Parts: sequence; structure tokens; C-alpha cells
Amino acid sequence: MSNNLLQTPIEYLKGVGPNRGELLRKELGIHKYQDLINLFPNRYIDRTRYYKINELQNNNAEVQIIGKIINIKTVEQKRGKRLVATFVDDTGQIELVWFQGHKWIRESLKLNVVIVIFGKCTSFNGLFNMAHPEIELLSEHEQSLRSAMQPVYPSTETLTNRGISNRAINKMMQQLFLETQALFSETLPDYLVNELKLIPKNVALFNIHFPKSADLLARAQFRLKFEELFFIQLQLITKNLIRKHKIKGHPFDKVGENFNNFFKNHLPFELTNAQKRVIKEIRNDMGSNAQMNRLLQGDVGSGKTIVALMSMLLALDNGFQACLMAPTEILANQHFKGLTELAENLDINIKILTGSTKIADRKIIHEELENGTLHILIGTHALLEDKVQFNNLGLAVIDEQHRFGVEQRSKLWKKNDIPPHILVMTATPIPRTLAMSLYGDLDISVIDELPPGRKPIQTVHRFDSNRLKVWKFIKDEIAKGRQIYIVYPLIQESEKMDYKDLMDGYESISRDFPLPEYAISIVHGKMKPADKDAEMERFSKGKTQIMVATTVIEVGVNIPNASVMIIESAERFGLSQLHQLRGRVGRGAEQSYCIMMTSHKLSNDSKIRMETMVRTNDGFEIAEVDLKLRGPGDLMGTQQSGVLNLQIADIVRDKDILQLARHHAMKILKDDAPMEKPEHQTLRKVFIELSKKKNIWNYIS
Ligand code: ADP
Ligand code: MG
Repeated sequence: MSNNLLQTPIEYLKGVGPNRGELLRKELGIHKYQDLINLFPNRYIDRTRYYKINELQNNNAEVQIIGKIINIKTVEQKRGKRLVATFVDDTGQIELVWFQGHKWIRESLKLNVVIVIFGKCTSFNGLFNMAHPEIELLSEHEQSLRSAMQPVYPSTETLTNRGISNRAINKMMQQLFLETQALFSETLPDYLVNELKLIPKNVALFNIHFPKSADLLARAQFRLKFEELFFIQLQLITKNLIRKHKIKGHPFDKVGENFNNFFKNHLPFELTNAQKRVIKEIRNDMGSNAQMNRLLQGDVGSGKTIVALMSMLLALDNGFQACLMAPTEILANQHFKGLTELAENLDINIKILTGSTKIADRKIIHEELENGTLHILIGTHALLEDKVQFNNLGLAVIDEQHRFGVEQRSKLWKKNDIPPHILVMTATPIPRTLAMSLYGDLDISVIDELPPGRKPIQTVHRFDSNRLKVWKFIKDEIAKGRQIYIVYPLIQESEKMDYKDLMDGYESISRDFPLPEYAISIVHGKMKPADKDAEMERFSKGKTQIMVATTVIEVGVNIPNASVMIIESAERFGLSQLHQLRGRVGRGAEQSYCIMMTSHKLSNDSKIRMETMVRTNDGFEIAEVDLKLRGPGDLMGTQQSGVLNLQIADIVRDKDILQLARHHAMKILKDDAPMEKPEHQTLRKVFIELSKKKNIWNYIS
């Protein structure tokens, strides 16, 4: 089939036209014939079953009924007009209701003609009604190309309101297959199709839209999922191969004075086996002459900081500078303090640069950076300013990567001819399945072991009505010398409300925990950095017992004496955020607690989140649940990726197919990386096409 036909703008399809074309473009991103073919159904429903009105149950299921409309009226209401039609069959009557689009609906409805309606039925005051039903004349209904599994396409409210129903999309799809004859060319090599017993591309596309049988539908889904994941893997692996072979890095072949001195004489504790293994991996990586691009994953409190320091010492030993970027000023300060302490017996120059660094200090930093006397620079986004010029940056450590955009990272990278090694540290556990599809080839180190002697944090879920008991518990803990965090949600869309909640909360806490017995700190994003730091300082020095805060303290803050984390309106936080917040406690020797406060009204998802947090402390398990609840697109910053904008496959549910796809992609590239062999000609073409269209976000580099 000619490719050109598939590139035809969608408005030229019979039955679409400019108006609908515009809607399809805006609402579903469908520009061309090709895009419509690739609009895959979300699910399928059984349209061979017809219900009688007296069989209806109030379970909100989708049903289809044969009958007719006997009258139509417009009902005025406080909240606007409704169009209501009475629909009958030989067993009873229901109401059909429209809230929008009255004019064209009214024009299209015919009284006393046999029709088939389809939609969700709900019962109200003993009468069933169906809102915005799909309607088809029985005669048309009988003729249309349909199968037992009726596809349900993704849609939007606007589309439905403007009359582009599921049935309309289905009709367009029929038209499309008529015009294109369903001759879509094969994209995978023949030998692969044979080996995996895949159905041909055109058969798969036909059956995904018009399944002839459950079996063919399953095979069509398998084939298309495989194809989607396979091409993503091809792209990811190719990128990694290029990086490994072509991007030179500084070979850190020496292990010198700084590293050895620190390791032999100044380690404050024995490293865990996981830390040792990870340091070795990093050493090996930086020792070769390719650039390192490594993700260091470790749950909160697993001890990533010392790994970062030792990696930076290696850079210094080889005559290079190193830097560490943190997402917030609080965190940068904390790293600065922590690293300065760890390195106090070493002869190295460590400085910090943030938005609030004074001009005079800045000048010194710029100078020392350029003449090479500054060894390690710690800071925030400020490190990305043009004025910041390293003499020879050998390693950039980035903490909590999801707060930095890709663009920002590459700014650092452009500053040298040979790029620095990159170590990205994250406490957001990325499930293996997802990591694999994000990174293709794995350059991931995992610290999967906590330092010894940690007591697991006890987590409970309490309702607001139990607040008195919770306050009593806090008072007891404070009496034992512990400190408490109380965190309020701050979500951008409702910022004003959230600040009100925070300040109201702060006031009532101040009343319940009065001076002079109790002192309270408060930290939120609208404060000046200097004030924030001062408050953090008071808390970390033990001058205040309670820290009221927004999620600014979510990442990295390390105050071992704080042993209770209270999360207010916990139902409004996502799982990974809850886990991050909980990670602020459990850092000292004492038993720590996390108390999630919610109202009684909880959605199902919120309930699952609460239960998961109470059940487990394992970040990876939590990430898996999170992924299932939210879908891959929402996990951390992956929305930006575009990688996970998958059309048909699902990283979690289809992880076996993902592995299969990955296996075959690797095999092909190992054997024929440029895809030059005759049997790979088509593959190469499709690959190039796809790469032009959808550039896989390379997560790290
Ligand atoms: P994170 O991985 O969350 O950044 P940190 O590096 O801040 O964790 O370490 C958390 C705490 O554990 C720190 O107080 C640190 O000193 C301590 N720590 C790290 N590694 C070890 C170890 N091997 N043994 C004992 N304590 C450790
Ligand atoms: Mg940390």
C-alpha cells in the first residue's frame, strides 16, 4: 500500500470534513489517515446482547436496547436545560437525557421509529435513564460491520458533546479501511514474524478495530504490542551503543591520595556491602574511556551521599573537579554541610553556590573554579548559569534527578569538550520493568540494603476525628526528647487554599502546643531562602520541637532526631511522595513513626495508597503499586518522556512482551547494528521513520 495514502490529511476521509477534522486534531492528535489507524480501542464490549427494559439493573453497566422514542421535551432546570426523551420497548420505559448539543440532537431524533440505543443506565427515583446514548436505526445497525467485540475508542468530553461518538469513530474507521483496502505493509522482518508466529501487520490492524474472534483479537493485540515495544527497544539500545562507542569520557585510571586517605583513615562507619558494590561499579565505569552515565538508585536513608563523595574524590585524584547539584537550596545546604564534615580531614576545597550566595563570594567561586583551586562545588540551579565555568569538570553528581529537566542537565554537559561523567542519584525507586524501557541498556546501580541497626518505621493511618489521640502521642514523644514534622499538601492548582490550610494548621498547632513549653518552626516555599534556612537551622539544632512544613522538606532533609512524621490530608499525596516524606524520619537510632491523617471520605485509590504505606516500607514495592494506580505516564517526571506515551502496550501488564521485544532487539543489533542486511531493510526504514517522528527521551544524558 502506498505510504502516501496513509499521509492523507484526516479531513479528506469521507464523512470527516474540515470541522470534524479540526476536532480530531485538537482532541485526539489525529492529523492523518495513519494516526486514525493507530487509534487503538481502550476496550471491547459485547454488542451481541440486547437487553429488555425490565431486565435492567442499577449497576451502571453499558447496555443496548431495541425500542423507540415516543416523545421529546425540554426540561428547564436551575442548572440549565435538559433534553429528555421517553424510550419504550414492550417491557417498560426509560428516559434518555442530554445536557448538551440539544439542537442537533433534537433535529436528528425521530419519533416512533425502531432504533437501537447504547449507553450506561442509571436509576433515579425508580426510573432508569441513559445520558447521551448512542442511537442507531435498527436497519442501519443490522448492516454495519460489527462483531461480538465492539471496540471502545479513547474519547474526550468535547468530542462526545460535539457528536463524535464512539460509533462515529467506528464508522470513520470502516471508511478508512475501505479507502485503504487494509493493505498495510509489514514492518518486522519475515523471519521474526515466522519465528514468533505473529500475524501479519494488516491482519493485526484489521482485527484490532474489527475483531473477527476473541482469538484473533488476542493475537492482534500481541502483535501490535510487540511491535511497539520492539521499536522502542531498538531505539534505546541503539542510542546506548552510540554513546558507549562514540562519546569519549575522561578515563579516571588512578585511585589516589584523596580516595585512599578517606577510605583508610576517615570513613565514619563501615560501608554496607551494597555501597561497596556500587562504588566499585562507578569506579569501573569512570575508569574506562567512555563517558559514564549512571543512575544510582537507593531508597531514602540508604547512604547515597558517601557514595557521591567517594566518586568525587576519584575525580579529584585524577586531576579533575567535581560538582553536585541539588534541587532545592535546603538540600544543597545540607549536602554542603554533610560533605564538608565527611571531608574535614582531607585537604580539599569545597564550596557552595546557590541563588542566595553573595556577590563577593560568587566572585571568589568563579575565580577558583576557573583556576582550578576549587575542587568540589555544591549547589542548586545556580550551577547552570553561564558565568559558572569549570576549569576541568570531570564528574557531575545530580541529586534527585526528577526535579531537573533534561535541558538543564545538558547545559552542564556543553561546558566541556569531553563531557563529564554523570552520576544521577535518586531515591525514587523505578521498577525494573520501567527502568529497562526508559534506559534500554542498563547503567543502573542499586543500593538495596540499609545501613545496619535501622528500626523499620511504624506507619499508621488515622482519621481527623482521632486528632486528640495523635496530639497526645506527639506530646509523649516530645517529652522523650524527639522532634516532629507536620506536613501539609501544597498542590499548585489550589495554592491559595493550600496556604490557608497550612497557616490555619500552624495556628491551631501553636494553640495546642503553646510556648514556652513548645516551640514551633515553619517552612514553606513562599519564604525567603534565608528565612527558610534559619528555621531549618533552629529545628535541626533542637531549638524547636515541631516543624510545620509543606513538601519543601520532601527530599533529602536529614535530621536524625526527628522521629515522627505527621502527614496532613494524606489522601492528597501520591504514593511516591508519601514514601519520600516518610523517609525524613527513621534516620536515627530511635523507633520512628509515620502517621497519615485523612478525612473519612476516601476514594478507592486513596484507600489503596494508605494500605500500601501501612503494609510496607519497601520503596520498590511501593513504586510498583504506584505504577499500577497511576499508569506509567504519571510516574515521577516521566510525563515529559514521550517514551511512555504508549499506544497499545502497557509497561506493567505487558512486561513479558517487553522482555521478549528487548531480547529480539538486542539480538538483531548485536548481529547487525546498522541494520544493513537485506532482511533488515524494511526494519531500517521503519526505524528511521519512527526516530524522526518520536525521539526517545534519553533520560540521563
Ligand atoms: P540517602 O541515600 O537518603 O541520601 P544518606 O546518604 O543521607 O542517605 O544517609 C542516611 C544516613 O545514614 C546518614 O546519616 C548517613 O551518615 C548514614 N549512613 C550512610 N551509610 C551508612 C553506613 N554504611 N553505616 C551507617 N550509617 C550510614
Ligand atoms: Mg540524600
